[in-house]
Amino acid sequence: MRIDVLTLFPAMFQGPLTESILQRAQEERILEIHVHDIRAFARGRHRQVDDSPYGGGAGMVMMAEPVVKAIETIASTPVPSSGGGGGVLSGGPLCVYLSPRGKRLTQPEVERLATKHEWILLLCGHYEGVDQRVIDTWIDEEISIGDYVLTGGELPAMVLIDALARQLPGVLGKEESAHEESFSKKLSRKREYPHYTRPEEFRGMRVPDILLSGNHAKIEEWRRNHLV
Ligand code: SAM
Repeated sequence: MRIDVLTLFPAMFQGPLTESILQRAQEERILEIHVHDIRAFARGRHRQVDDSPYGGGAGMVMMAEPVVKAIETIASTPVPSSGGGGGVLSGGPLCVYLSPRGKRLTQPEVERLATKHEWILLLCGHYEGVDQRVIDTWIDEEISIGDYVLTGGELPAMVLIDALARQLPGVLGKEESAHEESFSKKLSRKREYPHYTRPEEFRGMRVPDILLSGNHAKIEEWRRNHLV
């Protein structure tokens, strides 16, 4: 999968993309992430990217031109398809705007995006958001990570990238498999059972006996009964 991110704050992505599973997914070439600075597509000496809103009011709005230039430049890049054979992905990326006004992100939505799209472009808003004409014409989907407002779309983009990466075949080891996690189909979309590790007793609290019994059928039954 290829993900292109459009942001005014590219440095915010450095830590999360260069650690743990996201780092490994990129090293193993299962996931390719390109972070682009929208300011690089802005005109003039000052590279202006925002302006005051028509109709008045507080805050600034991200201007259409630099964002659209960035989307058009990236979408016209020939991207090799992961199927091999030297082909390129036709049709360009699915363009997603992270927005509190968008459709709420859920595990089934993550699975849909990961299985249906090989190339996704994530637009991160800032200030009051992006000029609506960009959303109306260039954006395929608006996605929210929850009913609260963050300063920018960077953290939501990172949340989505992480959730997507976990769905890509080969990213998680067998022992970390995404199939038996909270909200997975395997767990009937419920929340996972509790986990314990050594020691058997910690400050007077014992691990449930059944988990120490070695009886796999009973352990499985206990786990099913502790989904919430
Ligand atoms: N004026 C907007 C509103 O009231 O809906 C909020 C803008 S917010 C301060 C700036 C940017 O952060 C948004 O354009 C969006 O990209 C991002 N953002 C904030 N909260 C978000 C959320 N819950 N989900 C996804 N993106 C979010």
